Amino acid sequence: MQSLGLLFRAARILDAARTVVNDYDGRVPNTETELLSLAGIGKYSARSILANAFGKPAAVLDTNVARIFERFFGVEGERVKSRCKRLWGLADRVVPKRNASRWNLTLLDFGALVCTASRPKCDRCPLRKRCCFVTSDNAD
Ligand code: SF4
Repeated sequence: MQSLGLLFRAARILDAARTVVNDYDGRVPNTETELLSLAGIGKYSARSILANAFGKPAAVLDTNVARIFERFFGVEGERVKSRCKRLWGLADRVVPKRNASRWNLTLLDFGALVCTASRPKCDRCPLRKRCCFVTSDNAD
């Protein structure tokens, strides 16, 4: 039988679980800094845990969400690194204080169903009146 190549993830989860048990009395930490110190936990995972498990106003950013923000706020023409920083800043600015978990999932769905990578459905989008992508005549 051939490995799926995911064994390293299992090892990281085990490593993170050991840290939680040894350093946090078995309780998953609830700050971004502490979560980022666990093996295999990056910014996206840390924010997801904060929003989903602890109800904190933590935004997440993946390629779908980034695309929505780039189009809506008209973010373009910058280097990837500085654009990422700006997009994370926008994500933090617009995330609601309550129900961030639902907000994050809604944005993921919105990016998959409405503000799609190709042929976004701008004609049916509730954001179209305030969207830079539409007002700059990019939409079909
Ligand atoms: S108007 Fe178009 S580009 Fe703007 S958010 Fe909606 S679907 Fe995306």
